[in-house]
Amino acid sequence: MTVLLNDPVTRTQAYFDGEWRAGARTFEVIHPGTLEPIGAVADCTADDARRAIDAAEEALRAWRQVNPYQRGQILRRWHDLMFEHKEELARLMTLEMGKPITETRGEVHYAASFIEWCAEEAGRISGERISMRQNRKRGFTNAEPVGIVYAVTPWNFPAGMITRKAAPALAAGCVMILKPAEQSPMTALYLAELWLQAGGPANTLQVLPTNDAPAFSAPFMADERVRKLTFTGSTAVGRLLYTQAAQTLKRVSLELGGHAPFLVFEDADLEKAAREVVGSKFRNAGQTCISTNRIYVQRAVAEEFTAILTRLTGKLVLGDPLLDGTGVGPVVEQAGLDKIQAQVQDALQRGARATVGGTVKEGLYFHPTVLTDVHPDSLILREETFGPVAPVVPFDTEEEALRLANASEYGLAAYAYTRDLGRAWRVAEALEYGIVGINDGVPSAGAPHVPFGGMKNSGVGREGGHWGLDEYLETKFISMGL
Ligand code: NAD
Repeated sequence: MTVLLNDPVTRTQAYFDGEWRAGARTFEVIHPGTLEPIGAVADCTADDARRAIDAAEEALRAWRQVNPYQRGQILRRWHDLMFEHKEELARLMTLEMGKPITETRGEVHYAASFIEWCAEEAGRISGERISMRQNRKRGFTNAEPVGIVYAVTPWNFPAGMITRKAAPALAAGCVMILKPAEQSPMTALYLAELWLQAGGPANTLQVLPTNDAPAFSAPFMADERVRKLTFTGSTAVGRLLYTQAAQTLKRVSLELGGHAPFLVFEDADLEKAAREVVGSKFRNAGQTCISTNRIYVQRAVAEEFTAILTRLTGKLVLGDPLLDGTGVGPVVEQAGLDKIQAQVQDALQRGARATVGGTVKEGLYFHPTVLTDVHPDSLILREETFGPVAPVVPFDTEEEALRLANASEYGLAAYAYTRDLGRAWRVAEALEYGIVGINDGVPSAGAPHVPFGGMKNSGVGREGGHWGLDEYLETKFISMGL
């Protein structure tokens, strides 16, 4: 079958069981910037899911036998095609979920970097020779693909959250069935199209959008042939899928919510710390799992820091995400905006003050906001905001800062700014988070080879680097008597 690039059909039809399929029903994808529909995408059903699993079973038999260096070559072509179509991909992501175009261009690089790393690593997947206690025996391990993988991804990184899963899975010799977020299915379909163009065999990467995630997911969770679930999204849904996956004892990777604290000590470079807070907080309009959610500043510098943060935040350009000059775009949908407004109202009612922002501009556009005098019981200090609001809270001692930072059910990312080397180590080790940035507000940027994942209610397992690849490999022990 010929797959035409630039053919919008292949961005709206599902790809499974060897064909692009329109589906009996469709659902609309809305551009958050204008609230206009940009396409109607196939709405896949539980029957489609079963067909995809059957097709995956057959595809797996061949794909796991393909020489890993050859798998790596196909991945490399996939990576190159993403760059050939960088502008289209970036535009599509911006249209689907409203992230500013300069950021979606960056996401193409970020997403492709996982493919590149796995393309290089595929040929290095191997085993070990183990010395045995008996001279007449030889021991070995074999690294083998886990099998059929079911992937469920969110809208906030429409390409990155897919390649961070698909690249290691395909490099390992697994096949993947992907259910993208309902807000951003077309980016996922475009990636499937490029995978086929790169020479990816039929049904090794199937992409099925749906508007009814629970009903569509049920066959995967019940099927013994699906050996792994990989999920990125909210903690509530992750917990639900974890329970369901237990019935067939699937391998599970969960990348869930976060509530990142950012600690600023009095010896920090305040201007630099504030710049990094702005990046970490307002990138993607705050809709990032590692977004700074709570800013704790040592009391002696709290006022000065807040003034710098307010000045920098006030300079951010809120507007059309398709324009190059835009720094902050709309949030993805009304439910997200409602949550942001509820958190801001709650904080204001408890005595907080907005030094900048605090209101909706229009549609789904919320002004970048800094809040001070935030009461400790405020919702915003406990719940993930997923919006452009930065609450600043003073602290007195290092011990207090760590207690506040760790008082969360989440454990994904945390940041601290200090020039005291001893404190830097103490704080890095005491923070109960999977990712810690010391004088670094973007620890994962441009780093497909580092582990990404959370502790506590932020997840299970790691993506990126060999940790991410291991999630798709079984370790088989082989003992041979002579
Ligand atoms: P969400 O949990 O609502 O949706 C994520 C995915 O799950 C979507 O594809 C959705 O269709 C699907 N889904 C929803 N209910 C389902 C069900 N009952 N059965 C099967 N699938 C179901 O999350 P969201 O609002 O789309 O994404 C934002 C969340 O993702 C935030 O909490 C954010 O922190 C988290 N996130 C985490 C990471 C990470 O790496 N830890 C990265 C990005 C986003």
